[in-house]
Amino acid sequence: MSTSTPHEIADVVVIGGGLHGLSAAMHLARAGQRVVLLEKSWVGRHASGATAAGVRTLNRDPAEIPISLEAMDMWHSIASLVGDDCGFHSHGQMNVAEFPQHLSVLEKRLAAMRVAGYTHEELIDRAELLRLLPGISDHCVGALVARRDGAADPHRTLQAFRRSAEVAGVVIHEGCGVNAIEHAGPDWRVCADGRDVVAPAVVNAAGAWAAHVAALVGDNFSLGHKASMMIVTERIAPVLKPVVSVVGRPLSLKQSDQGTLVIGGGLQGRADIPGQKSYVHFAELAKGAQAAIDLFHTIGPVRIVRTWTGMEAKTRDLLPVIGASPSARGVFHAFGFSGHGFQLVPVVGAILAELVVHGSSTRPIAAFSAQRLI
Ligand SMILES: Cc1cc2nc3c(=O)[nH]c(=O)nc-3n(C[C@H](O)[C@H](O)[C@H](O)COP(=O)(O)OP(=O)(O)OC[C@H]3O[C@@H](n4cnc5c(N)ncnc54)[C@H](O)[C@@H]3O)c2cc1C
Repeated sequence: MSTSTPHEIADVVVIGGGLHGLSAAMHLARAGQRVVLLEKSWVGRHASGATAAGVRTLNRDPAEIPISLEAMDMWHSIASLVGDDCGFHSHGQMNVAEFPQHLSVLEKRLAAMRVAGYTHEELIDRAELLRLLPGISDHCVGALVARRDGAADPHRTLQAFRRSAEVAGVVIHEGCGVNAIEHAGPDWRVCADGRDVVAPAVVNAAGAWAAHVAALVGDNFSLGHKASMMIVTERIAPVLKPVVSVVGRPLSLKQSDQGTLVIGGGLQGRADIPGQKSYVHFAELAKGAQAAIDLFHTIGPVRIVRTWTGMEAKTRDLLPVIGASPSARGVFHAFGFSGHGFQLVPVVGAILAELVVHGSSTRPIAAFSAQRLI
């Protein structure tokens, strides 16, 4: 691309219009940066539009807990951040033990949390489980609970972050896939379909395609992928308020405000990353439906209305990459959320703003360094 090609000037180019790109753009604009966001398809097209939107600190990797707890505080006042409550409800998340031997798994986790000084997870017995989940099946014996956890509405969340980013001055271009990133003096020229933007800083929030974007600046990361599947059923009478998972089985179950059951839990379909498509594996998906029925015998027959998948990047240690490029000055990565990035959205944007503006973060992010993927 010739340097004489007409181009926009910015302080930061954000690549990817999922929630992490939007959150980074919003925080950066509020920190006084001129931000242009380039999205290949449309805002929310991939993981952020397909997500189950669980807001969970429960059972997080210890390295993620400090930023996850900060994010949870932000969710509890999310309207003050983005002008809308994003449909967030804090009815708790719980990991249910079906059988007595599963209780020891939860006791071990709780002990590790207490040793590390954390108190947000709590072990409850059958009586408290029944109080919180009156419809739970008779064989379930207890649960690990994070009472401040909950779930949000992904589409309201996308709208709220987009609106807040634009109000703060972020310019969003959809239908602009970035295909080259070149040096332009001390800056970067980011070349998208029909549009170039020159800026000293670039944020790579390209989700499942983040390794392709990273390679454009010489970062060659080894990255896996997920194609997590979801089910939504017809509306039924109220059954549960908390988000429920279960020890040893793939399940995340909640009931939406509208009464539909939303069933996920990380069951995997098939991803076609170059084709930007993913496919449901119905036999595999049935395991999630079965787990839901086993936990709530009272639900009875219920029709499935829709199933879908969403793609995102997965790292070897299932921790995200949040940090500076090992090889390209001014480039910052935020990807590899490995199926649990929704909850972290408010805080990761704030971290990226710190990194871009000040060159370092006040939060503990060493475990998320990009260097570990090389
Ligand atoms: C089915 C499912 C259920 C989930 N459930 C939960 C949950 O309950 N709780 C939780 O915490 N997390 C959950 N997650 C994970 C969470 O949704 C993701 O971690 C999060 O949405 C990732 O956001 P993102 O912005 O990084 O990626 P995305 O939303 O995928 O955004 C990346 C964007 O980059 C764009 N892009 C790619 N390449 C380029 C390019 N070259 N140029 C320009 N743009 C480009 C893409 O088009 C895309 O829009 C779930 C994910 C899925 C799929």
